[in-house]
Amino acid sequence: MPRAPITNALTIDVEDYFQVSALAPYIARSEWDSRECRIERNVGHILTMLDECRTKATFFTLGWIAERYPQLVRRIADAGHEVASHGYGHQRASDLDENAFFADIDAAKKLLEDLSGQQVKGYRAPSFSIGEKNQWAFDSLERAGYLYSSSIYPIRHDHYGMPDAPRFAHKVRGGLLEVPPTTVCFFGRNWPASGGGYFRLMPYAVSRWLLNRVNGGEGQPAIFFFHPWEIDYEQPRIPGINLKTRFRHYLNLRRTEGRIRRLLEDFHWGRMDAIFLSRPDGEGG
Ligand SMILES: [Zn+2]
Repeated sequence: MPRAPITNALTIDVEDYFQVSALAPYIARSEWDSRECRIERNVGHILTMLDECRTKATFFTLGWIAERYPQLVRRIADAGHEVASHGYGHQRASDLDENAFFADIDAAKKLLEDLSGQQVKGYRAPSFSIGEKNQWAFDSLERAGYLYSSSIYPIRHDHYGMPDAPRFAHKVRGGLLEVPPTTVCFFGRNWPASGGGYFRLMPYAVSRWLLNRVNGGEGQPAIFFFHPWEIDYEQPRIPGINLKTRFRHYLNLRRTEGRIRRLLEDFHWGRMDAIFLSRPDGEGG
C-alpha cells in the first residue's frame, strides 16, 4: 500500500532586504527607518501565492516589522497561517548576552501575540545563530514561553552552523523542541537542502531530488525556508557590497517565485506547529 505523502514545513522569515545579516556591514541599524520598505508588498504577494496553492505556512516574523506593520501580522494570522517569532531586532543570538537575548525574544513574542491573537509557539534565531557556544539560549526561550525553536543549522558554513547537531527534530535543554532546517548527509558531511541561497543557486531538479531523499529515503518531514525579499527582483540594490555577498544576495531572484510554486505543487506543505507539536515526540496537542 502506498504511504501517505509526508507533510513538510514551509517557513518564511519575515524581514526586509536591508535587515539581512550579510548586509549588516553596509547598512547601519539607524538607517533602517529611512529605507524603502518592501515587506508589505512582498508578504502580500506570498499570501496570495499560498492562497492559490491552498497551503498553510509558518511566518517567523521580526518584532521590528510587526511594530511598524501591525496589519500585516493580522493578515498572516487571519489567513490561517502560524505567526512565529524571529526575535525583535534581528541581532544574532551569538552576539547577545543572556539578558539582552531574553529581552529581545520576550518583546517579540508579546508583540506578535497581541497583534495576531494567537499563542506564539515558535522561534527562529536570526542567521541560525544558536550553536555549541550559546546553548543557554534554549533556557531563555523556554522561560519566555516558547515551545519550539528552528535555530540550529547542522552544517559547516562561514556565518553559522553546528555540524554535529542532530539533523531532525529533537529535544534540547529544558525540554524545548529544536526543529533544524533540512540537510542531507553525503560523504560523512551534512549539506543544506532547505532553501536560502542554495535553493536559488541549484537547479530546481536538485532541490526536488534532495527533498525526495529526505521524505522517501529517510521518512522525515523537511523544513524549507525563504525570505520575502528573495521573490523581489526589483528591490533597491545596495551599492558597494563585496562580490561574494552580492552574488549570494541577488542570485536568481527572478526565478525564485517560480521555483517555490513548483515546490508547493510537488510536495505537501503545512505549518510547523501542526507538524511537530502534535507528534508523540513533540509537546502534544
Ligand atoms: Zn533573518
